[in-house]
Amino acid sequence: MNLASARIRYLVSCLAWPTIFLMAVAITAIGFAADSPVLGFNVAYLTLAVSLFALEQIMPHEREWNVDDGQTFASLAHTMTSKGTVQTLFIFSAALGLSSLIAPAAESGYGIWPRDWPIVVQVVIGLAAAEFGLYWGHRLAHEWPVLWRFHAIHHSVVRLWILNTGRFHFIDSLKSILMAMGILMLLGAPMEVFHWVAALTAFIGMLTHCNVEMRFGPLSYIFNTPGLHRWHHSRDLREGNKNYGENLVLWDLLFGTFFNENRRPPVNIGIGEYMPPGFLQQLLWPFRGRRRLHSVAGMSAGHTSLPPLNSPAE
Ligand SMILES: [Zn+2]
Ligand SMILES: [Zn+2]
Repeated sequence: MNLASARIRYLVSCLAWPTIFLMAVAITAIGFAADSPVLGFNVAYLTLAVSLFALEQIMPHEREWNVDDGQTFASLAHTMTSKGTVQTLFIFSAALGLSSLIAPAAESGYGIWPRDWPIVVQVVIGLAAAEFGLYWGHRLAHEWPVLWRFHAIHHSVVRLWILNTGRFHFIDSLKSILMAMGILMLLGAPMEVFHWVAALTAFIGMLTHCNVEMRFGPLSYIFNTPGLHRWHHSRDLREGNKNYGENLVLWDLLFGTFFNENRRPPVNIGIGEYMPPGFLQQLLWPFRGRRRLHSVAGMSAGHTSLPPLNSPAE
């Protein structure tokens, strides 16, 4: 690689995260301004996915993570079922009349929400408030074994790339969304804030899992960047049980779970327990108590067999 192309690569790695994020935000804002928020979001999401997929081929963070792991179909299927479940929940809530209770309140305003503040400020408050639910939903999923059964599906992959973004057991997704949106509802946030928080969560989520060589600098002290999330996927729980934030690192910083060391995160990611390879088996796996325990007991490679945290990164 000559000096000029090395410099261009460096520049792209510094600018990629903020540029792609702001591009998605700008397209969504145009959609809102044109009174077509759904169209705006979909165009923004597609642009984000295509840009990141192209960069994953051109300048991957780990070349090994571009090799097929046999989990593409399962990850896609989890993404579809998670999204389908959330949408069904909204349809059922409408059928049960819940939305007719929430919508007028969201239109007229209640609670302590500062509705007369600029929308940008309201969205920032909305992100921080929803993040409290996302943070604790995620942290409990790691610290409470019953919830870990569901969340383990997300962590069972051995590579990170954009398709892992939606790879969640649908019950895991549902729990996170109810916790985040429940807080916004209790505070009386307007619909526009709900839409923006949902859109930004989708954008940051895909950025977080991309396999693109990027540099983040101070961004990692505000947003959950891929650099932080790669630690979260470590097999070593001293690194993996950290960085629970989904969009922001605010609550990680406050609750002492922020982790960002000046060395390369591990390439060998995953979990130290068995996970069946098929989508349907994975869906049923959290409910199969005895067989699960038998398989876990049969595994010899646990987290404790890993080298000390301070040993040189491989
Ligand atoms: Zn996790
Ligand atoms: Zn992840």
